[in-house]
Amino acid sequence: MRTNPLATVRNLGILAHVDAGKTTVTERILYATGTTHKRGEVHDGTTVTDFDPQERDRGITIFAAAVSCDWDGHRINLIDTPGHVDFADEVERSLRVLDGAVAVFDAVAGVEPQSESVWRQADRHGVPRIAFVNKMDRAGAELDAAVASIRERLHPAPLVVQLPIGAEDTFTGVVDLLRMRALTWTDGGDAVAEAPLPDDLREEAHRRRRLLEEAVAELHPGALEEFCENGALGAGTLAAALRDLTRSGDGVVVLCGSAYRNRGVEPLLDAVTAYLPSPLDVPSVRGTRDDGTEQQRPADPAAPLTALAFKVNATATGRLTYLRVYSGTIEKGDTVWDATARRTERIGRILRVQADRHAQLDRAVAGDIVAVVGLKSARAGSTLCAPDAPLVLEPPGVAEPVVSVA
Ligand code: GDP
Repeated sequence: MRTNPLATVRNLGILAHVDAGKTTVTERILYATGTTHKRGEVHDGTTVTDFDPQERDRGITIFAAAVSCDWDGHRINLIDTPGHVDFADEVERSLRVLDGAVAVFDAVAGVEPQSESVWRQADRHGVPRIAFVNKMDRAGAELDAAVASIRERLHPAPLVVQLPIGAEDTFTGVVDLLRMRALTWTDGGDAVAEAPLPDDLREEAHRRRRLLEEAVAELHPGALEEFCENGALGAGTLAAALRDLTRSGDGVVVLCGSAYRNRGVEPLLDAVTAYLPSPLDVPSVRGTRDDGTEQQRPADPAAPLTALAFKVNATATGRLTYLRVYSGTIEKGDTVWDATARRTERIGRILRVQADRHAQLDRAVAGDIVAVVGLKSARAGSTLCAPDAPLVLEPPGVAEPVVSVA
C-alpha cells in the first residue's frame, strides 16, 4: 500500500519566550536540514528567517515567515511565530495554521511568563507540542529544574526522553533513553557520534528510563497493559505511546540541547517527525456555508479547495500571501473565491519559501503551506475556496490580552 504523501508533512511552529533561543533553534534547524549552508548568528545580524531589516535592528522576530525544509523523508514547513508580547495577534494567527509546535525554554530560567501565555494560546488551539530545553551550555543550566517548572506552571506530564551528558561548559551530549545509546557532539557541533552508554551514566540512565516508562504507563492504557505484563516497556511501545500522548496533549516529550553550540537539533528533528502530527492526523477544518450550515472539509487533494490566508507580506517579489491549504488543490492561474471579501481572485505564482529563496510550484495540495503572488483582496484571516463550493472558515479566536511581567 502506498502511503499518503501528506503523512510526511509537518506544519511546525517554534514557540518561546523572547530570548529563549527561538531564532537560534530555527537557524540550526535550517542548517541541519541543509536549507542553509552557513550558520546565521543572531548577534551579527545574519539570521535567515529574520530577513526584515527592522527585525535585525530590533533583534526580535516581528513578522512570521514560513520556511520549508526536509528531514529524513519528511517536509517540515516551519512557521515562524513572534515571541514578543506585542505580537499576540500574530502568534494567534500562526497557531491556527500549525499542526504541532516545539516550545523552547531556557535551561536557566525555565518557564517564563511569555512561555506560559503562548502555551495557553497553544492549548486553546489544541496544538500538540514537544519541549526543547535550550541553553544547556549556560552556567546554572539544569534540566531537572526546568522540567519541574514545566510540570508546575504548565501542568502537562513532562516525559523526559534524554539524560544530559556533562553540564554547562562540558555539556557534550545526551543519552537517548528510548534507544539507550549516547549521542555526542564534537566541537562546533557539526558531527553527531553514537556510542554505547558511558559506564558512569549507566545506572542513572536505567533509573531515568524506568521513570519514563512509569510516567508513560500511568497515562497510556496500552502501555500500562504491557508494563503490568512484562514489568517494562519495549522501545516500540514507548515510542508509539509517546506519539499518542503528544497528539492527545496528555503529555509533553522533553528534549534538551544548546542551539547556540549546535547541540541537540538533530534529535529534536527526529522527535518532530516521530511524535508531532501530520495534516492527516488533525481534525478536519470546519467552516460555514452561505446558507449558514456548518461543513467539515477533509485534508484531501480531491476535495473542494479550502485555504486560509494567515500572513501578507510586501516583498521585493510582490505581495506575498501565505496560505495554509486545508483541502483540495490550487494551481497556478486558478480562479478562486475569497469567501471573506466575497470576490474572485486569481492565483498568480505559487511559491515554496526556502529560507531566502523561493521555489516555484505548479500546484499546492491539502496540508501544504505556500505563498502566493497576485492576490489582491486576501488579508490575514481570509478564506479562499472553490468558487462552486464557498465556505468561510471560523473567524480567528480573539487573542487573550497578554500581560507583560517585568
Ligand atoms: P529568541 O528571542 O527566542 O529568538 O532568541 P534568540 O535565538 O535571538 O537568542 C537570544 C540570545 O540567546 C542570543 O544572544 C543567542 O545567541 C543566545 N542563545 C541562543 N541559544 C543559546 C544556547 O543554546 N546557549 C547560549 N549560551 N546562548 C544561546
